[in-house]
Amino acid sequence: MEKYILKVKSVGHVTHDVLSIVTEKPPDFKFNPGQATEVAINKGAWVNQARPFTFTSLPDDDHLEFTIKTYPDHNGVTNKLLDLMPDDELIISESWGTIGYKGEGTFIAGGAGVTPFISIFRHLHSKNKIGNNKLIFANKRKSDIIHIDEFEEMLGKNFVNILSDEETNEYAHGYISEDFLKKNIPNHNGYIYLCGPEVMMDIVEKQLANMGIKKELVVKEEF
Ligand SMILES: Cc1cc2nc3c(=O)[nH]c(=O)nc-3n(C[C@H](O)[C@H](O)[C@H](O)COP(=O)(O)OP(=O)(O)OC[C@H]3O[C@@H](n4cnc5c(N)ncnc54)[C@H](O)[C@@H]3O)c2cc1C
Repeated sequence: MEKYILKVKSVGHVTHDVLSIVTEKPPDFKFNPGQATEVAINKGAWVNQARPFTFTSLPDDDHLEFTIKTYPDHNGVTNKLLDLMPDDELIISESWGTIGYKGEGTFIAGGAGVTPFISIFRHLHSKNKIGNNKLIFANKRKSDIIHIDEFEEMLGKNFVNILSDEETNEYAHGYISEDFLKKNIPNHNGYIYLCGPEVMMDIVEKQLANMGIKKELVVKEEF
């Protein structure tokens, strides 16, 4: 698989533990919104430590963007990315991934599992095609919600948050339950897009099956 060495243009924080990393884009590089690539840091032994991350920029942008949740306690790649500076280099491979937009529906994300949906929603928004798509976004606390303002602006009332570790007046509290899904997906005609940690995905897939939602309508990727 072809590899590309790309200079970092900027690094910023999107939330307290999520980075936005903008890099150069190779000429004619192609990806579809929702797709990912393998990313390694072009420094010492880190060149052999590639991890999957999703493009959050748009296919026609002149740069690439990654939105990356960092885990300092893993002592892995995402911790090392916290030291990344402009002009450092990343190595990426071709684009791949199972999540892509098939039609209107409900997107269910846990934490950094929202990243494939960032690119999909930005793409739909840029074409005025957000329609009746809905995002259900599960996080621990309000401060963990990635791009809260942008999603509010793009989706309005179809941006539904649920927080497990914080009670607020605005958002639901607890974990996603079957009742919560029934309330928020009253008619199951559309697709269900699901992305998050393994535990959450297992539970939500069972809940969707109990609700009679066909497996063929569920588009998913585990993080
Ligand atoms: C297709 C795909 C796309 C993805 N896109 C994104 C994205 O756009 N943004 C994003 O933020 N994430 C994304 N992810 C998830 C991302 O790949 C992982 O978070 C990342 O690989 C973690 O890398 P790491 O080196 O920091 O830690 P890891 O590779 O998970 O761990 C490094 C080491 O830390 C130790 N470790 C592991 N878990 C723990 C733990 N719970 N506590 C303590 N130590 C531990 C282990 O010894 C391990 O060897 C994606 C995943 C997939 C599959």
